[in-house]
Amino acid sequence: MLTDSHAHLDNERYAEDREAMLARAWEAGVGTVLAIGIGEQADGMDRALDICRQFNGRPNLPTLYASAGIYPHNTHEADDAVLAKLDRLLAEPEVIACGEIGLDYYHEGTPHPVQREGLIRQLEIAAARKRPILIHCRPKDGATDAWDDLFEILEAHWRPTGLGGVMHCFGGGWEQAQRSLDLGFLISFAGNLTYPKAQPLRDVAAQLPLDAVLVETDAPWLAPVPDRGKRNEPAWVLRTALVLAELVGVTGEEITSATTKNFFKLFSLRPDVGN
Ligand SMILES: [Zn+2]
Repeated sequence: MLTDSHAHLDNERYAEDREAMLARAWEAGVGTVLAIGIGEQADGMDRALDICRQFNGRPNLPTLYASAGIYPHNTHEADDAVLAKLDRLLAEPEVIACGEIGLDYYHEGTPHPVQREGLIRQLEIAAARKRPILIHCRPKDGATDAWDDLFEILEAHWRPTGLGGVMHCFGGGWEQAQRSLDLGFLISFAGNLTYPKAQPLRDVAAQLPLDAVLVETDAPWLAPVPDRGKRNEPAWVLRTALVLAELVGVTGEEITSATTKNFFKLFSLRPDVGN
């Protein structure tokens, strides 16, 4: 079955139909969803875990896992109390990843040095809890500034842990893809892989080994074509998976099994045991 490696299931846009939305994912062949725990603000980091606990064990729904982390533009909130909360969340069995964390120089907001410091503090916490990380990296248009700073930080503070992680909603070029693979990261593609102007991204995807890729929705954002602009949901991850399959030259079944296997391996999960 398919794995949606990144969905914001706690988003208020699912308030009315969250269970039905998860049931549609199951019917579409999605067996696992990683619910991203960044909240609207750092304070809401635990909402993804709450959703896991609410729905896991119910029949005909995907198995849910959670992450917890402080989004780059919320790192100004990363005081000792918030970091202690993150540490407690990462100790929970369902919380398998720290993220999404990273650097966002595209939007104006939290100053870059604050983002970098917040990232480093979270890497230390994730390392101590032995949780792989989910990276959000977005440079200014036409620049690689955020990537350059990110790789410098990961080389110094993350490579030695050997824990690896995921480049979520990958949007870099071939050089950034190679550096990510070299760090032991998986590269996750979202619905933007299906957009007409994304040919450079498709060219990168086409060169990647099958054991290095994941698919995700980043729901409720980034709905794949032909529903671009609408509210996205995990059931639609299949469309991105099929585009990726064609790019790397495998069948839909092969991309499904490879991306799910890659996800389970990174997080040391056993499909027969559940959570
Ligand atoms: Zn996200």
